[in-house]
Amino acid sequence: MIDSVYLVQPRIAHGPHVPCDDSLRGRRIERIARAGKQVRISLSGGWTLVVHLGMTGRLIVTAADESPAKHTHLRIAFRGEPVELRFCDPRRFGGVWLVDGNPDEAKGWIGRRIPPVAADPLRISLAQWRKLIARPRQIKALLLDQNPLSGVGNIYCDEALHRAGIHPLTRAADLSPAASRKLYHALRRVLTEAIALGGSSVSDYRNAQGAPGQFQTRHRVYGREGQPCRRCRTPIIRLVVAGRGTHICPKCQRLR
Ligand SMILES: [Zn+2]
Repeated sequence: MIDSVYLVQPRIAHGPHVPCDDSLRGRRIERIARAGKQVRISLSGGWTLVVHLGMTGRLIVTAADESPAKHTHLRIAFRGEPVELRFCDPRRFGGVWLVDGNPDEAKGWIGRRIPPVAADPLRISLAQWRKLIARPRQIKALLLDQNPLSGVGNIYCDEALHRAGIHPLTRAADLSPAASRKLYHALRRVLTEAIALGGSSVSDYRNAQGAPGQFQTRHRVYGREGQPCRRCRTPIIRLVVAGRGTHICPKCQRLR
């Protein structure tokens, strides 16, 4: 049961209600679900705390007496439990929304709207995937956009494109049916594996238990500039695509 709430950085909070002692004390966490980059925490009384992780946001469960990490914006303490739930977000592209009732129908809004959650690559069929990505945009920019697909970040995008042998500048609508199918399966494999290994820790990412992820040990291209491709031994190169550092094997991922 929630005992106390400390909103360290009020600017991260949006929606009809502010997370504070008055709004949250006494409520229980009933269910936690992820959709794209959002974590929806269902609370007793039909309320929901939506946490959007943005680019660098993370939710951690930590000992209540541990001093908060830098950029900790929200702290929630529980009655009789020596732990706290904390939201940290150095870049602040994320945020929290506290709503009573269905978050998608909330009224009396203050601040930013909850970013819509687009289709999750792990929950769509190959046929749905083909329809969603048939667009005249570069495939990397399309995947990173969080619309029409959600939850694909920079690292997983590069890793999936390498596994599928696709250059990030390829126009999505120009992918052959075989390449499109390959990318669908590669992306799902990368995401599934990364979730199982607790994500990738390349700078400051930590999972909910405060431990670094382990998927970075499986990276084939990301952060491996100058190192040999694990498939063909060609040195990995770094480009900038869609404004983001991008790693590819120039031999396995030719621009057609
Ligand atoms: Zn290669």
